[in-house]
Amino acid sequence: MNKTIAYLDNAATTKISESVLAGTERYLRESYGNPSSIYSLGRESERAVMKAREQTAAALGCDPNEIYFTGGGSESDNWALKGVCELMRERGKRHIITSAFEHHAVLRVLEGLEKKGFGVTYLPVYEDGAVRVGDLEKAIRPDTALVTVMYANNEIGTVQPIAEIGEVCGEYGVIFHTDAVQAVGNIPVSVKKENIDMLSLSGHKIHAMKGTGALYVKSGLKLPPLIEGGAQERGRRAGTENVAGIAGLGIAVEEAMGCMAEKNASLLEKRERIYDAVMKIERTRLNGGLERRLANNLNFSFEGVEGEALLLQLDMKGIAASSGSACTSGSLDPSHVLLALGLPHEIAHGSLRITLSKYTTDGEVDYFLEQLPPIVEKLRALSPVWEKIKKV
Ligand SMILES: *Cc1c(COP(=O)(O)O)cnc(C)c1O
Repeated sequence: MNKTIAYLDNAATTKISESVLAGTERYLRESYGNPSSIYSLGRESERAVMKAREQTAAALGCDPNEIYFTGGGSESDNWALKGVCELMRERGKRHIITSAFEHHAVLRVLEGLEKKGFGVTYLPVYEDGAVRVGDLEKAIRPDTALVTVMYANNEIGTVQPIAEIGEVCGEYGVIFHTDAVQAVGNIPVSVKKENIDMLSLSGHKIHAMKGTGALYVKSGLKLPPLIEGGAQERGRRAGTENVAGIAGLGIAVEEAMGCMAEKNASLLEKRERIYDAVMKIERTRLNGGLERRLANNLNFSFEGVEGEALLLQLDMKGIAASSGSACTSGSLDPSHVLLALGLPHEIAHGSLRITLSKYTTDGEVDYFLEQLPPIVEKLRALSPVWEKIKKV
C-alpha cells in the first residue's frame, strides 16, 4: 500500500474527528447497555441517542421527533423514496420528478419504482450544474407523488435551488425529499424554511462513523418502515440502535455547525489556490459552475487524459482523489453526472474530483499541485489522441 500523503477525497468519506472518537468510546467500552432496557446501563444509552437526536434536529431546524437514525445515506434515500411511493400509490399518485444527476442510491430506487408502474421525469441539469425551477414547475402533474432533488451534488459540488424547489412543491402540495448528504454540515440547511418534507444525511461524510445516518421526516407524514421487527425509532426503523455511531453522528453534526463559517473561509482559500494552479494546465476545464458550489469541491477534465490512469498515477505518488463517485469507480462507465451536464463521453471519462475537508493542510495542497502537472503531461505524451486534440 502506498503511503497517503494527500487525502483529497473527502466527498467519498472523511476521517473521524477527535471529538467523535472521544465522545463515543464510552458507549463501546463501558456504557454498552441496550437503549430499550429498563436498567440504568440501558438508560444511559437511551440518553445518548436522545442527545444525538436533539443535536441533529438543531442542525436541521426541526423537532427531535422528526429525526430517524438509519444505517447511512443510502438507507435514508431508499427508505424515503420507497416509503413515500408506497403511501402515494394508495392515493393514485404514480409520478416522480427528480434530476438527471442524483446519487445512485436515488436513481437505482427510482428505476425499481419505474418497473413497479411509477413514471419518472428526469429534470435536465444545465452547464452550471443546477436544475431550473421553471422546468420543475412544468413537470408537475396532478398525479405527481414526489419530487426528489439532491441538495448538493457529490461529484461536482453544485448546490441546487432547494428553497425555490420547496416553495413550488408546497404550492402544488407535492412531497419534497432531498438527499442532503453532501450539504449538511457544509452549508446551512433549514428544513422548515426550505419547505423540505424529507431529508437524507450521512455520518461518515462529516467526520462521524461509516454506517451512520439519519432521515428527517416531517411530522404528520406517516412513512411506512423499511426495516421491520422492533419498536426502535418510534416503531419506524427496527433494530437495536448503533448507540456509539448515533452519538458520534450527533457530535459531528454539532461540531460542523459550530465551525462552518470559519471552515468554509479556509476551504475557499485552498480551493482558489488549487483552481488557479490547475487551470494553468492547457486544455483543462472545470465541471460545473463556481458560483453555487460547495467550498470543498473542484472537478476538472483534462483533454486527452483518461481519468482512471490519472488516479493510478496520483495514487503512486500518495495522492488519494477520485474521478467522480466512489460508488462507480471500478466501472469504466463515464460519470452519469458529467454526461448529464452535456459533456461528451471522452471528456466525461477524464475527470478528476478533488474534495477537501477541515483536516486538509496547505502542505497536502502544495504537494498535489507539485505532482499533478507532470503526471498530466506524461499521460498526454502517452496518449494516442493528444497530438490530434491539440491541433483542433
Ligand atoms: C455518500 C453519499 C450517499 C450515500 O451515503 P452512505 O452513508 O455512504 O450510504 C448518498 N448520497 C450522496 C449525495 C452521497 O454523497
